[in-house]
Amino acid sequence: MNLPPPNLPPQILPSTVTPPALLAPAADLFARRAARLRHLAGGHSMAPWLLWLADLADAQQQALTGLADSGLRQAATLDPHHPVLHAGQTALRQTWPAICASLAAAVNVDLQAETSASLEQRAAACLELAAGQAVAAGRDTVDLIVAAALQVVWSGAARHLGLPASSHLDSEPESCPCCGSAALGSIVRAGDGAAGLRYQECSLCATRWNAVRARCTLCTEGSRVDYLGLEGSSGAVQAETCEHCHGYIKTFFQDKDINVDPLADDLATLALDVLVGEQGYARALPNLFLGEGEAA
Ligand SMILES: [Zn+2]
Ligand SMILES: [Zn+2]
Repeated sequence: MNLPPPNLPPQILPSTVTPPALLAPAADLFARRAARLRHLAGGHSMAPWLLWLADLADAQQQALTGLADSGLRQAATLDPHHPVLHAGQTALRQTWPAICASLAAAVNVDLQAETSASLEQRAAACLELAAGQAVAAGRDTVDLIVAAALQVVWSGAARHLGLPASSHLDSEPESCPCCGSAALGSIVRAGDGAAGLRYQECSLCATRWNAVRARCTLCTEGSRVDYLGLEGSSGAVQAETCEHCHGYIKTFFQDKDINVDPLADDLATLALDVLVGEQGYARALPNLFLGEGEAA
């Protein structure tokens, strides 16, 4: 008599298995983010803003789903110093204005006062912000729409880029290996043999790249980091501070909350930025949805 198969123990990967160096953005990236933003809005002091961003994320998902392949492909060897999805790529620059118009319509933002030149200017500033070259000051709602459109185009292109499955990175990249932008923060994964693996998530295209844990990603000297969280929170969002460079990034822990989304959870925890800022640490990484007044 054949016995039913026993319950298999949880799979444990041998330690020789190297984690994927790069993770492409998911097909439902923005739909998940919209759901997360709605969840985080519950009882939040900034609920109307988070709910508006959720509607914007829904529109981003619709645009991503309908987006044509940019045709851009990754070469077999990854060169982090020459990312394929750089700001000057014509295939990317031509695509975002139409998406910008559809996103604005979806969340009732009037672009009548804008010219294509003024929108271009906003896009250039946004790409500089993503590259970590500018501070978020004086940005308004139209800038957030432009940022959302750029995210759709860059994430869509990153999805089709064809990242080598076993891509190896000689050294830990300081910026996104696909588009050259700065990270938004780090995510520490849980489950499926990925437990404890830390990835940086790109602020523009949402590609994730593997990063060593418990080491400052901002400077090469910070071999020790400390974690600060908000009292009474789940601990899913913590500020990783460095005593050497006095900078901090936010780290998002999936084992504390499996649905954590770096962009959404960052915006819902600006109180943490205030707390960490008061202790003398400076925020080092951009979030393209931080406008004037929201930044700590
Ligand atoms: Zn990127
Ligand atoms: Zn540091």
